Amino acid sequence: MARRPNTFQSGAASLGPSGGKRARARAYNMQRPADVKRFYDSRKWRAARLNVLARDPMCGSEGCSNLATDVDHIRPIRDGGARLDGANLQALCHGCHARKTVREGGGGGSNT
Ligand SMILES: [Zn+2]
Repeated sequence: MARRPNTFQSGAASLGPSGGKRARARAYNMQRPADVKRFYDSRKWRAARLNVLARDPMCGSEGCSNLATDVDHIRPIRDGGARLDGANLQALCHGCHARKTVREGGGGGSNT
Protein backbone atom coordinates (compact mmCIF):
# COMPACT_ATOMS: atom_id res chain seq x y z
CA MET A 1 0.00 0.00 0.00
CA ALA A 2 2.81 2.45 -0.73
CA ARG A 3 1.23 3.98 -3.80
CA ARG A 4 -1.88 6.13 -3.77
CA PRO A 5 -4.34 5.61 -6.58
CA ASN A 6 -3.96 8.14 -9.36
CA THR A 7 -7.68 8.63 -9.86
CA PHE A 8 -7.79 10.56 -6.62
CA GLN A 9 -7.79 14.08 -8.15
CA SER A 10 -9.96 13.57 -11.18
CA GLY A 11 -13.12 15.00 -9.62
CA ALA A 12 -12.14 18.49 -8.62
CA ALA A 13 -10.60 19.50 -11.92
CA SER A 14 -13.84 18.96 -13.84
CA LEU A 15 -15.96 21.26 -11.72
CA GLY A 16 -17.25 24.23 -13.70
CA PRO A 17 -17.31 27.79 -12.43
CA SER A 18 -19.91 28.12 -9.72
CA GLY A 19 -21.77 31.00 -8.15
CA GLY A 20 -21.17 33.32 -11.09
CA LYS A 21 -24.68 34.69 -11.15
CA ARG A 22 -24.75 35.42 -7.46
CA ALA A 23 -21.36 37.11 -7.60
CA ARG A 24 -22.56 39.33 -10.42
CA ALA A 25 -25.66 40.33 -8.48
CA ARG A 26 -23.51 41.25 -5.53
CA ALA A 27 -21.20 43.32 -7.71
CA TYR A 28 -24.22 45.11 -9.11
CA ASN A 29 -25.38 46.06 -5.64
CA MET A 30 -21.93 47.23 -4.65
CA GLN A 31 -21.89 49.64 -7.55
CA ARG A 32 -24.96 51.43 -6.34
CA PRO A 33 -24.14 54.60 -4.50
CA ALA A 34 -25.00 54.33 -0.84
CA ASP A 35 -27.77 56.92 -0.92
CA VAL A 36 -29.47 55.15 -3.79
CA LYS A 37 -29.27 51.89 -1.91
CA ARG A 38 -30.81 53.57 1.09
CA PHE A 39 -33.53 54.95 -1.12
CA TYR A 40 -34.51 51.51 -2.41
CA ASP A 41 -34.70 50.32 1.17
CA SER A 42 -36.88 53.19 2.24
CA ARG A 43 -40.49 52.89 3.22
CA LYS A 44 -41.42 55.67 0.80
CA TRP A 45 -40.02 53.79 -2.16
CA ARG A 46 -41.70 50.56 -1.15
CA ALA A 47 -45.03 52.34 -0.84
CA ALA A 48 -44.58 54.07 -4.20
CA ARG A 49 -43.59 50.79 -5.77
CA LEU A 50 -46.65 49.01 -4.43
CA ASN A 51 -48.84 51.83 -5.69
CA VAL A 52 -47.45 51.49 -9.19
CA LEU A 53 -47.88 47.72 -9.19
CA ALA A 54 -51.47 48.16 -8.02
CA ARG A 55 -52.07 50.76 -10.72
CA ASP A 56 -50.33 48.78 -13.46
CA PRO A 57 -50.45 45.08 -12.68
CA MET A 58 -49.21 44.18 -16.15
CA CYS A 59 -45.84 44.88 -17.73
CA GLY A 60 -45.92 48.27 -19.42
CA SER A 61 -43.52 47.28 -22.16
CA GLU A 62 -45.06 47.30 -25.62
CA GLY A 63 -46.08 43.88 -26.83
CA CYS A 64 -45.39 42.22 -23.49
CA SER A 65 -48.23 40.61 -21.58
CA ASN A 66 -46.37 39.40 -18.50
CA LEU A 67 -47.38 40.29 -15.00
CA ALA A 68 -45.37 43.20 -13.71
CA THR A 69 -42.93 42.43 -10.94
CA ASP A 70 -40.61 45.44 -11.07
CA VAL A 71 -41.09 49.17 -10.94
CA ASP A 72 -38.94 51.19 -13.27
CA HIS A 73 -37.97 54.84 -13.34
CA ILE A 74 -38.93 55.93 -16.84
CA ARG A 75 -36.33 58.65 -16.57
CA PRO A 76 -33.48 57.20 -14.52
CA ILE A 77 -32.71 58.83 -11.20
CA ARG A 78 -29.14 59.50 -12.25
CA ASP A 79 -30.52 61.50 -15.19
CA GLY A 80 -32.56 63.62 -12.85
CA GLY A 81 -35.74 61.59 -12.95
CA ALA A 82 -38.15 61.98 -10.06
CA ARG A 83 -37.74 59.18 -7.57
CA LEU A 84 -41.24 58.95 -6.21
CA ASP A 85 -43.40 60.62 -8.82
CA GLY A 86 -45.94 58.16 -10.20
CA ALA A 87 -45.63 59.84 -13.58
CA ASN A 88 -42.00 58.76 -13.73
CA LEU A 89 -42.71 55.21 -12.62
CA GLN A 90 -43.85 52.29 -14.70
CA ALA A 91 -44.47 48.65 -13.92
CA LEU A 92 -42.45 46.14 -15.90
CA CYS A 93 -41.87 42.42 -15.81
CA HIS A 94 -38.43 41.40 -14.69
CA GLY A 95 -37.22 40.53 -18.20
CA CYS A 96 -38.25 43.85 -19.74
CA HIS A 97 -36.85 45.76 -16.81
CA ALA A 98 -33.50 44.03 -17.11
CA ARG A 99 -33.39 44.72 -20.83
CA LYS A 100 -34.24 48.38 -20.33
CA THR A 101 -31.59 48.74 -17.65
CA VAL A 102 -28.97 47.26 -19.95
CA ARG A 103 -30.11 49.51 -22.78
CA GLU A 104 -29.63 52.53 -20.58
CA GLY A 105 -26.12 51.43 -19.77
CA GLY A 106 -27.23 50.19 -16.40
CA GLY A 107 -25.31 47.89 -14.18
CA GLY A 108 -23.77 50.84 -12.42
CA GLY A 109 -27.37 51.64 -12.18
CA SER A 110 -29.26 53.91 -9.99
CA ASN A 111 -32.12 52.99 -12.26
CA THR A 112 -34.71 50.56 -11.08
ZN1 LIG B 1 -42.38 42.60 -19.97
